[in-house]
Amino acid sequence: MLELTRRRELIDTALAMNSLGLNQGCSGNLSLRSGDRILITPSALAYDRCRPQDIVKMDLDGSCRGSGKPSSEWPLHLDIYRTRPEAGAILHAHSPFCTTLACMELAIPPFHYMVAVAGGSTIRCADYALYGSRELSVAVQTALQDRSACLMAHHGMVCFGPTLDQALDLAVEVENLARLYVQALQLGTPNLLTDAQMDAVLEKFSDYRGQAG
Ligand SMILES: [Zn+2]
Repeated sequence: MLELTRRRELIDTALAMNSLGLNQGCSGNLSLRSGDRILITPSALAYDRCRPQDIVKMDLDGSCRGSGKPSSEWPLHLDIYRTRPEAGAILHAHSPFCTTLACMELAIPPFHYMVAVAGGSTIRCADYALYGSRELSVAVQTALQDRSACLMAHHGMVCFGPTLDQALDLAVEVENLARLYVQALQLGTPNLLTDAQMDAVLEKFSDYRGQAG
């Protein structure tokens, strides 16, 4: 019963990802850690036609439980779960503004203090590699070092959080930052916050998280 609920949550969050404009069609994907396994959206199936039984269950070693075909980005999801114990849910999307910057191979610099939301003073852009490949997964792990979100060159973005809701909230925030940065670039070159200014923000964020438990 609990697993059925989690499968439904995954579909609901995937639908929210589309209605929030983060994703179009079935190009993005979403997963959830469930004990020592993961639940992941299926390959090439529109979320509005996705039923709980279409969600694919995988072991952390990459073997599938059941007959469904997982999203082509499953290696990326599994590697994040294996290397980042704090990751409870992962969201990957071709959100328009993150992808615009990623197509220009641009990271998001500290032009706004909220860039710290992803855990550091920048949101990096991972090097390009073929979708679904182990090389892409390695590039993303590098870009995610000490971060919970990154852009993916000529592709899109990925982020993770302790829960599906938190991963979705982070994706919305990162997409908004990407939009603001694209807009700022149209007016010129924004001045950036200093390392000391960003360190102060990061410290305040960690105090807040500590208080929030
Ligand atoms: Zn993709």
